[in-house]
Parts: sequence; C-alpha cells; structure tokens
Amino acid sequence: ASTLEIKDLHVEIEGKEILKGVNLTINGGEFHAVMGPNGTGKSTLASAIMGHPKYEVTQGKVLLDGEDVLEMEVDERAKAGLFLAMQYPSEISGVTNSDFLRSSINALRGEGNEIPLMKFIKEMDEAMDYLEIDKNMAQRYLNEGFSGGEKKRNEILQLMLLKPAIAVLDEIDSGLDIDALKVVSKGINKLRGEDFGCLIITHYQRLLDYITPDKVHVMMQGRVVKSGGPELAKRLEEEGYDWIKEELGIED
Ligand code: ADP
Ligand code: MG
Ligand code: MG
Repeated sequence: ASTLEIKDLHVEIEGKEILKGVNLTINGGEFHAVMGPNGTGKSTLASAIMGHPKYEVTQGKVLLDGEDVLEMEVDERAKAGLFLAMQYPSEISGVTNSDFLRSSINALRGEGNEIPLMKFIKEMDEAMDYLEIDKNMAQRYLNEGFSGGEKKRNEILQLMLLKPAIAVLDEIDSGLDIDALKVVSKGINKLRGEDFGCLIITHYQRLLDYITPDKVHVMMQGRVVKSGGPELAKRLEEEGYDWIKEELGIED
C-alpha cells in the first residue's frame, strides 16, 4: 500500500497565492473526500499534485511513499502510481480512446513489458461492460464530442485499467445524472482495497451517498479547515458552510 503526504503546501497561480498551507495524508485503502465552496483551491490542489505547469509550488511538500513528487516530471508521477481525473478532461483529436488507453498502460509498464493486445482488449471490454460504456466509444477520438457523462465514465475506465496506487478525482460527479453517478461510483468502489487510495474532490455530498469516505475534509480559502468522518459531509449538505465559517471566525 502507498501513502500520499501533502505537507504545508503553498501554491501560486500567476503570482497569486491560492493554496496557503494544505496538510493531508492519504494511506492506501483509504478514501478521502475534499469538499468546499467554489474557488477555495480544490482543483488547484489536484493540479499541483499532478504537476500542471501553471501552478507554482512555493512552499511545502508532496510525498509518495517518502519520495518527493514535486521533483518528478508529470510522466514520472504517473509511473510512481498517481492518477488524476480532471474536472475538465481535454479532447485529443486523432487519437482513439482505445489507442490512448493502451499507450497509457504501456507507458506505465515500460519498454519490453507492453501489454499483449488480446489481454488489453479483454481488460478494456470487461471494464467497459462494467461501466456500461458503449463499445463504439473505444474507437472514438479521446473525449471529442463526448457528453459530460461519457467523459466522466471514460475517466473511470482509465482509472480501472491503469490501477494507480493513489487517485485524485476532481469533481468526477459534476454534471452526472443519477444513473451515471451510480455507475461511476460502482467503478470507484470496485477498486477499493489496500492497494488503492483515493482523494475525491466534490462540491456536493450526493456522490458520498454512493462512495463512503473514510475521512471528509473541508477546504476554505486555500486551507483544510476542518476534517471529520462521513457525518461531516451530511452536515454540510443540510447546513452549508456558514457554521464552519462562524466556528473558525472566517470572513468571506
Ligand atoms: P475550486 O476547485 O475549489 O473551485 P480552484 O482551485 O479552481 O477552486 O480555484 C481557486 C482560485 O484560483 C480561484 O480564485 C480561481 O479563480 C483561481 N484560479 C484557478 N485556476 C486559475 C488559473 N488557471 N488562472 C488564474 N486563476 C486561477
Ligand atoms: Mg470549482
Ligand atoms: Mg474545482
């Protein structure tokens, strides 16, 4: 099992400090939810962990099993076992979904250890069945013309095939109808086990009706200001964020 440690992480975008000292530790086998109002830095946290060039880490550490993730190139982060599902997955014209998946798997496995084509097709077919994804999606260009729900299902397809040690899922539930939400949750839950840890970023408690987190964290103004169990998410749904602001004396 792997451990991801985020220690006192400060991140700037274009000279403006967005993350102001985030601390979080995710152990293999654990599901953590990060919630919080819009604009508090949730996506910034995800992007910084994955090494998006626009996000400058000015202080703090991100460690995967003690190794400094921030020193790694983006592809090295994936090889080390990190996976990011982005809030807005990008379209790649001219690359089919199937080719993209296979080359991603092979990049992780390394030269000389490529997945046999038949094994790949079998694994992809099984995962697509499990996620109720139409088979013709395999031959479409990556994310091009995919509906919101198709994009999110497809991110979970990647997740199931790439089997990372730690996944960061940014608003994997946004724009999903209830059936798609159930399927996406089913895929994430299937990965639950000692060798998989997950950071689930969500604006809504709804997803957490289907995926029970071990811990819930609330982010506000660039920091984790409160942590608790699943009951914290329930309270946020009922009462919003104002009570936390009052409790902590945070002004808007
Ligand atoms: P959340 O995901 O919690 O809604 P974000 O991390 O997307 O919040 O954004 C946090 C803050 O950083 C916001 O004020 C947002 O406007 C700003 N921000 C995010 N991305 C960029 C960017 N690429 N360029 C400039 N400002 C950004
Ligand atoms: Mg947002
Ligand atoms: Mg966001």
